Amino acid sequence: MVETGKLIGVTVLGATGSVGMNTLDVLARHRDRYRVVALTANTNAERLFTYCREYRPEVAVLGEAGAAARLQERLRTAGIATRVLNGPEGLEAAARLPEADYVMAAIVGAAGLLPTLAAVRAGKRVMLANKEALVMAGRIFMDEVVRHGAELLPIDSEHNAIFQCMPPHSIDGGLDRIGVERILLTASGGPFRTTPPADLEKVSPEQACAHPNWVMGRKISVDSATMMNKGLEVIEACWLFRTTPDRVRVVLHPQSTIHSMVEYVDGSILAHLAAPDMRVPIAHALAWPGRMHSGADSLDIVATGRLDFEAPDLERFPCLGLAYRAIEAGGTAAAILNAANEVAVQAFLERRLAFTEIPRVIESTLDSVALHESDALETVLADDAQARAVAARMVSRRTPRAAP
Ligand code: NAD
Ligand code: MG
Repeated sequence: MVETGKLIGVTVLGATGSVGMNTLDVLARHRDRYRVVALTANTNAERLFTYCREYRPEVAVLGEAGAAARLQERLRTAGIATRVLNGPEGLEAAARLPEADYVMAAIVGAAGLLPTLAAVRAGKRVMLANKEALVMAGRIFMDEVVRHGAELLPIDSEHNAIFQCMPPHSIDGGLDRIGVERILLTASGGPFRTTPPADLEKVSPEQACAHPNWVMGRKISVDSATMMNKGLEVIEACWLFRTTPDRVRVVLHPQSTIHSMVEYVDGSILAHLAAPDMRVPIAHALAWPGRMHSGADSLDIVATGRLDFEAPDLERFPCLGLAYRAIEAGGTAAAILNAANEVAVQAFLERRLAFTEIPRVIESTLDSVALHESDALETVLADDAQARAVAARMVSRRTPRAAP
């Protein structure tokens, strides 16, 4: 519990990314309420330096030791007292700092798991954007939230919308206790919703990253184009709201105006609408249970005009089907799926793999890596590592896509 009158300390893991920068934008609007305690980045020392100058955090973290030493020297010369740490230990130390009340978990991919878990174990308010952490280790993660009394607030826009459509504290007890029949998880369908399937083989990383409604990091943009993002979000929803995939229905909604819906047993459906701007869920999680300005434009409902819905096409988007397969298989299957996806997406972004090969690499990895129970972190990390090795071999055997 934060004392009244005291500034709330906030750490931003992944501060130089899309969600991280949106978080700092919201925090800058409310300097009378929050202070930045720690900021982390992987390689972008230049942007991290700029943010250290502006927000004066106690700690900054960079991936590599040499780069961290250079940043430390530069900050010292500029008269800024920020202490620079590095590597995975630095990230975990930043996540645990006693001065931080809230931690924004906005590192992309599996690299976010251990620092996010460190924040959970330190009992922070954890604002979770890093969905891969829950996909990989949902059982362990949710058990640790309860054990350490952490406060988990979803940042992923759909999950934040679902949270907002549910009664307070609904995250604790499952859907039946609060009379929820099902969750309607909306999806835009990404940039290739209507592209002829024959053209998908040749699409470039630039085309895949050009999302029609959202500006996001490159990995999640490709995930949105394959719809693996929605598959990961089904898994995320099952852990967050303590339910099963048969109660999470994916609905295509190309306008991205409704960010998700909750259907109750009496037939009522509650929806959350807002402009597609991540500052809305970020401000919600920071201010919860209150409200504050986010900087997002008000949604002009008349200009919006119409809201369309359709069922997703699993043939066009095989990644969605693969995510369901992983959920049904249980154990470490979701960690294996996530690892193979990260390897395949990186290869696609580096033009070493065709877009249409992404699901094939994931499927072959799921076929070849043995899965285990997912209640020990070591097992999850071991299966993640094995899946990465297998997926990398599969990528190297495939023909690279032609240069555009
Ligand atoms: P991004 O690529 O823009 O930023 C990623 C951040 O993570 C950067 O600060 C980067 O320095 C850091 N990072 C990357 N690899 C790292 C490593 N190995 N070690 C330490 N730090 C590392 O990504 P993003 O779009 O901001 O997404 C962040 C997370 O939020 C993802 O899990 C994504 O799925 C989720 N998310 C993003 C959005 C969005 O609008 N961008 C929406 C919903 C959920
Ligand atoms: Mg989302």
